[in-house]
Amino acid sequence: MRWSEAVGLKPESVRDDQVSIEWKLYELRGRFYRGRPKDGSIRLADLPPFLAELVADHLRAASGRRCTCTGTEAPWCEGGRYAFVGPEGGHFRRSAYGARFLRPAADGWYPAREKRSAAPVLTDAAFPFPGRPVPPWPAAIPGEPFAPPSGRGVIRLASDARIGRCPCCGRTSRRRLDGALVSHNAAGGQCQGSGQPPAEDAAPTSWLPVLARLTPHGLRHGHQTWMEEAGISDLLRSERMGHEVPGMRGIYGHVSPAMRADLKAMLQERWETSLRERGYRLARSFQPSTLCWPPSASPPPRSAPTWLPESDTTKGGDLDGILFARC
Ligand SMILES: [Zn+2]
Ligand SMILES: [Zn+2]
Repeated sequence: MRWSEAVGLKPESVRDDQVSIEWKLYELRGRFYRGRPKDGSIRLADLPPFLAELVADHLRAASGRRCTCTGTEAPWCEGGRYAFVGPEGGHFRRSAYGARFLRPAADGWYPAREKRSAAPVLTDAAFPFPGRPVPPWPAAIPGEPFAPPSGRGVIRLASDARIGRCPCCGRTSRRRLDGALVSHNAAGGQCQGSGQPPAEDAAPTSWLPVLARLTPHGLRHGHQTWMEEAGISDLLRSERMGHEVPGMRGIYGHVSPAMRADLKAMLQERWETSLRERGYRLARSFQPSTLCWPPSASPPPRSAPTWLPESDTTKGGDLDGILFARC
């Protein structure tokens, strides 16, 4: 899907194993308006089983999310339900989404902002792969000594006589006279780390780039390549990408159910292979930690609760067995 098609997707356009791509949401001077894709772009796109499940889960979790637009006349968005809208009801803006989510996730670096220079994504490796993001430090300069920043307002990753890091929720808390952590809350109740000795100091690690400079549009190119590699027919490829093919109107009738099944099987296989590879790497690189999550209590934080899009924190499937097997 194109960016504008994804942000314009309505929940009711998602049907079991297909999405109906029939609207786009465009950004213009801070406001959003809806428009129809060109004729050749209005289409049904097949979802492989894993994706159908992820999208259904997402829609269940985010059901009822409405945007906060208050346009009063078409085509300005008048407010409504969308499949992908921020927790506060804002539509995702391409530039902000890139800076906050895609750049750190793909590059392993937060881009430079007005007063802040670019900084590597830093995670606490005591949490399951890929670690829990913690506030970034400035990058070290090769050959120069490096001291972690400290001072007011800087979140500490190491304990001292006064404060310590909770072994359960990972946040810093004050210490009692006996050195244990004061009582504090986490996830709506008293944190199990209350009254416990602090955890060992955090082990900051940084993320390697997943695919530096990846853009949403780059994902479309990658998808196209996968289909070419798998020998998916020109017709189905063009239909899926929303490319208008001259002289081939009404191509839906020419794409057979068997061709669609092949496409879905190929995408499912790619997904499962990537999970296996990730699991294999995890099993060999996961660091022993002092954490032990009670299985019935609140689930441990997944990959990145704060800065990554939800899509990365959803289902791990078999992965969970690997991630938390050490407890
Ligand atoms: Zn809106
Ligand atoms: Zn805690």
